[in-house]
Amino acid sequence: MGKLGMVEVGIQAKRCLHPAMETMPREQLAALQLAGLRSSVRNAYQHVLMQRARLDLAGIGPDDIHTLADAQRLPFTVKADLRDHYPFAMFARPNHQLVRLHASSGTTGKPIVVGYTRHDIATWADLMARSFTAAGARPGDMIHNAYGYGLFTGGLGAHYGAERLGATVVPMSGGSTERQVTLIMDFRARVLCATPSYALAIAEVADAQGIDLRKSALEVGLFGAEPWSQAMRGEIESRLGLKAVDIYGLSEIMGPGVACECECRAGLHGWEDHFLFEVIDPDSGQVLPEGQAGELVITTLTKQALPMLRYRTRDITRITTAPCDCGRTHLRILRITGRNDDMLIIRGVNVYPSQIEAVLLGRPCIAPHYQLVVQRRGKLDEVSVEVEALPGVAAETYETVARDVAHHIKSMVGITTDVCVKAPGVIPRSQGKAVRVRDLRPKESL
Ligand SMILES: [Zn+2]
Repeated sequence: MGKLGMVEVGIQAKRCLHPAMETMPREQLAALQLAGLRSSVRNAYQHVLMQRARLDLAGIGPDDIHTLADAQRLPFTVKADLRDHYPFAMFARPNHQLVRLHASSGTTGKPIVVGYTRHDIATWADLMARSFTAAGARPGDMIHNAYGYGLFTGGLGAHYGAERLGATVVPMSGGSTERQVTLIMDFRARVLCATPSYALAIAEVADAQGIDLRKSALEVGLFGAEPWSQAMRGEIESRLGLKAVDIYGLSEIMGPGVACECECRAGLHGWEDHFLFEVIDPDSGQVLPEGQAGELVITTLTKQALPMLRYRTRDITRITTAPCDCGRTHLRILRITGRNDDMLIIRGVNVYPSQIEAVLLGRPCIAPHYQLVVQRRGKLDEVSVEVEALPGVAAETYETVARDVAHHIKSMVGITTDVCVKAPGVIPRSQGKAVRVRDLRPKESL
């Protein structure tokens, strides 16, 4: 099969790592979830003091879970809970039963620490391998893993999943971009794992070296850990010559592999045998009907070390239980285009960086690297957009290009922005999660 030769989607996409589980009738899946929910609430209640106090206050215990709808009576968990109980007070197992810890980078305040038993790690590897398979990876593949290794869950999460799949993993981590290009070519990697912004940085370095990644053996890319637009998907696919698949996860719940697109790429299958997904109105906390956009809330059903009850992800999305062409029955989370935390409110208009990204990637003369700079002028927040010209675009035309971009942001996103076109290579490249917003507003006014 040649590059992008995924024409037999109907046949290809039916390949599941766990066919019986992934295509289980939804009523059976619901029964499994109910049992998981009960045991997860019991685990939290019996072993986590904070959870017990909170459940007591809400007047609900493990024996009060009779239907899946009873989940709606459980209190929410938020990121601040993990900070407040730093480092281990939310763990349901003593440290000697844990085999691994991960932690967030902790840009503000204390980091978030998560722990795993041996069983938790095995589940994670399974779900990551299941995600790889859904995306089109297969045993025997060479998987180039450019997610960061270390406390971040991306690197080791993908690593264990690739091994569990039976693939050969290249534990490259982020950085050393020229070397990434060399090894992708020399080892003939078929699958690439990276953040979408770093995938583009790799493509750019390859271009500079005169190497055409479209002629590499790459066929599939699993990209996640930051929201990215459909336009970004198109850009990555044309630059790297692979099929770009969206994968979702977060450390608080497990790490990468909580949900992943199948080869139909019509939403990310959330693995419901291990997680309960809800979408709520972020203001009222009420569960929204299927199909309505709101905040994604996830409850873990099988985690031992860190059972998470109704964790508010801050990610804004919609879910659907409609059957997928691939035959999998697990619900689909529609692509996440924004995170509540990243949302900017510019003169009363709600804006996600990914909306501006979609405009930028559609304009001629502009490279797919950008930063948004938020400043306060008087009482109003203003956004300036720093973009890069493509190599070869004459500097005298930057002004004209900037006006064109500002015009399209205004007409498509609805906000007025200052656009500054910079020379190629000026915007910092990410080696992991991209920094899309530089917030220069005074801290006290936030
Ligand atoms: Zn599917």
